Amino acid sequence: MAKSEELVIPEAKLAGNESIADLVRRMLTLIGEDPNREGLRRTPERFEHALRYLTGGYQQDASELLNNATFSVCYDEMVVVKDIEVFSLCEHHLLPFFGKCHVAYLPNKKVIGLSKIARLVNMYARRLQIQERLTNQIATVIAEKISPGGVGVIIEARHLCMVMRGVEKQNSQAVTSAMLGAFRENKQTRDEFLSLIRKS
Ligand code: ZN
Repeated sequence: MAKSEELVIPEAKLAGNESIADLVRRMLTLIGEDPNREGLRRTPERFEHALRYLTGGYQQDASELLNNATFSVCYDEMVVVKDIEVFSLCEHHLLPFFGKCHVAYLPNKKVIGLSKIARLVNMYARRLQIQERLTNQIATVIAEKISPGGVGVIIEARHLCMVMRGVEKQNSQAVTSAMLGAFRENKQTRDEFLSLIRKS
């Protein structure tokens, strides 16, 4: 009886009270490290802190983020925000992928504050992602929030799960795009976007 209780108690702790830092301490042991050596002693807490920051996008919501930041305008030329730095974690390996995101849309009576576009990108990037979904989510949320004539999003990124493991050549980039509305239907609109983001 006493023996089975001893077995049950640690499991209950595992289910209920174990922190990310506790799991990291165990993980360090499993890879053959000593989590108590000086350099690693505070690593589990640092890792937990970093992971919570890098996945903080789960606590955010687009409506809240854009609150009071969409404006009515007469402007109907293409709005382009290019070279937005993007850092995310691939959901397959929990390793970073990072690069540039370019966003464009054709306003239809409404625009989004420019700084909010970068914040939307961050909100979705700070979740476990695949690059294709990240690209689509950014395009879709802009389409939903301001009903523009069209939206284009392009992300160029390097994935550490590929380059560090030698799966791809060191400098290879993955490029994904999401084109909605006029950006999908009209080649001229798409070409204008592409030429604007290539200009430096
Ligand atoms: Zn990966």
